[in-house]
Amino acid sequence: MTIYNAPVEDMMFLFDNLKDNKNYKEIDKFKEISSDLVKDVLDQAAKINQEIVHPLAKIGDDSPCVYENGIVRSPPGYKEAYKKFITDGWTSLSCDPKYGGQGMPKTVSTFFEEMLSSASLSFKLYSELSIGAYNCILHHADDKIKDKFLPKIVEGKWSGTMCLTESQCGTDLGLIKTKAIKNSDGSFSLTGQKIFITSGDHDLTENIIHLVLAKIPGAPAGTKGISLFLVPKFNVDESGAVGSRNGVSTLSIESKMGIKGSPTCVLNFDNAKGFLIGKENKGLSSMFTMMNLERIIVGIQGLGIAETAYQNSLAYTRERKQGKSNDNKNGETDLIIKHADIRRSLMNMKSIIEGQRSLAFWLSQQVDVSLNHSNENVRKEADEMVSLMTPVVKSFFSDMGMEITNEAIQIFGGYGYTRDQGIEQLYRDNRITPIYEGTNSVQAIDLVFRKVLTNRTLEKFVSLLQNEIKNYNDKVELKRLSNILKEKIKLLLDFSRWLDDKLKNQKDDISAACNDFLKVLGYVALGYSWLKMTKVSFDNSSKNKNFYEEKINTAKYFFDKILPRIDSHYHSAIAGSESLMKAKFN
Ligand SMILES: Cc1cc2nc3c(=O)[nH]c(=O)nc-3n(C[C@H](O)[C@H](O)[C@H](O)COP(=O)(O)OP(=O)(O)OC[C@H]3O[C@@H](n4cnc5c(N)ncnc54)[C@H](O)[C@@H]3O)c2cc1C
Repeated sequence: MTIYNAPVEDMMFLFDNLKDNKNYKEIDKFKEISSDLVKDVLDQAAKINQEIVHPLAKIGDDSPCVYENGIVRSPPGYKEAYKKFITDGWTSLSCDPKYGGQGMPKTVSTFFEEMLSSASLSFKLYSELSIGAYNCILHHADDKIKDKFLPKIVEGKWSGTMCLTESQCGTDLGLIKTKAIKNSDGSFSLTGQKIFITSGDHDLTENIIHLVLAKIPGAPAGTKGISLFLVPKFNVDESGAVGSRNGVSTLSIESKMGIKGSPTCVLNFDNAKGFLIGKENKGLSSMFTMMNLERIIVGIQGLGIAETAYQNSLAYTRERKQGKSNDNKNGETDLIIKHADIRRSLMNMKSIIEGQRSLAFWLSQQVDVSLNHSNENVRKEADEMVSLMTPVVKSFFSDMGMEITNEAIQIFGGYGYTRDQGIEQLYRDNRITPIYEGTNSVQAIDLVFRKVLTNRTLEKFVSLLQNEIKNYNDKVELKRLSNILKEKIKLLLDFSRWLDDKLKNQKDDISAACNDFLKVLGYVALGYSWLKMTKVSFDNSSKNKNFYEEKINTAKYFFDKILPRIDSHYHSAIAGSESLMKAKFN
């Protein structure tokens, strides 16, 4: 079994030193969230994730969910753990106190999301979409529905799903066939089949609240005619009590390469009673409330799994002995951590993970501002920044999760490939993150075509970085690092101008470059995060010497050994698309 120790010290380093968004600091309700309170929450979170959730990762992989006679059973131990999980209030962490939540900011709940992903992604997925459903209902449903459904979801007694995908429609949601017919009482009857539904059915909660995309007859074709409905597994009466079974049934669950403890269901809707959420035909934009926040969390899943991969790799390199390092003096076999190439792998992991955690913390502040600031313009500006960085965090973090879990297998050698150590499971579990919630390629296309080429948010992001860099002249090393970042920002801007030039008549060049552009922006954003962490570390280096010196050294590694990847992405992209579009694949 793998090990996992929650990186509370690193999280507290960010919370104490990098709450640098002045708009975030203006949010009244978060002013009381003190460092001591957060440390306490993170210590408790570490305890449940390390002691109760983490053991479930292997159990779920060895004894996956079972489908029998129309019923889905979770792996052994999941029910008991979930009961403890909700009794301790973890589903309510960031929810509105009006519905029973604890009102924690995303700056804190995102740390919890990371820990839970590190501990067991399968177990996490039972409650993850409940928070998505909560957000969607909170922002788009009427008060009656909110009052009826939200308290139970917040409490964790009911869970949520997100039902978009059908067999003929994955990325292209305009192809949805599920129909919703209006009833005389204002409710709707839904008929159709949804596939790949995470936690579509299970035995952990007393009800499951499906948020379903469907079309009302006569609606406009394509994505403009999609509406959103709330469809409970069990009908809920006026008093809020769970009643008769609704017309939703589970036809099967998928057999998958990873996240085997999470049921991925085929759901059949047969005249199932549902309630419209938001306006008719505006379902997709309502669902995006759920999906955008959810996409950031998918990125955090990649980060969380990468952290577990790193911790286990590091531990293994400190116990496995093979060969002799270059400075071997006693002729005895060395621990593999002495080999420069192994250290390179570990530093790749460490520098990317810590940079991502810091970037996620920065983005959480933006999300908190976009949802809670009293000034509408400030909320809007933050929302634009969130919108720009959401595909980056989703795709870049989940792709890096693949790179890091892959490196972890390599560090373990043959023992990484076999099942005993649990390392290959991390790779398999993470493999879904670049696929669901919109594939990473489609995220990259969204970033370039809808966000970079059509509005000026990238310029705003870049000027934020350029303003920050001006503060880095006081130390030789900081100046050196900031000069490296300056060069990379120039490449990012050259890249975006190149995209602009191609817009008129070479769209394939742009499409072929989207993934590279997303990576370039991701690495630049990580550089920004590392620069800020390095400054704080220099400022504090007399206090916790080991911690801050290690940060500074890791920053140097990141700037010298990781950031040059930007050049390769840029040059590959601007080589254009002629050869790939010409290919006959014969
Ligand atoms: C374990 C699991 C859990 C899931 N959970 C849920 C869930 O809870 N709810 C839900 O609704 N769905 C869920 N899904 C579905 C998931 O979101 C889809 O699989 C995903 O969106 C991709 O759709 P698809 O599989 O149909 O692939 P397709 O859309 O057929 O895509 C195939 C390939 O073509 C590429 N592609 C597609 N369109 C374009 C384009 N315009 N330009 C360039 N490339 C393109 C894609 O990037 C991909 O590489 C889940 C899937 C799995 C496997």
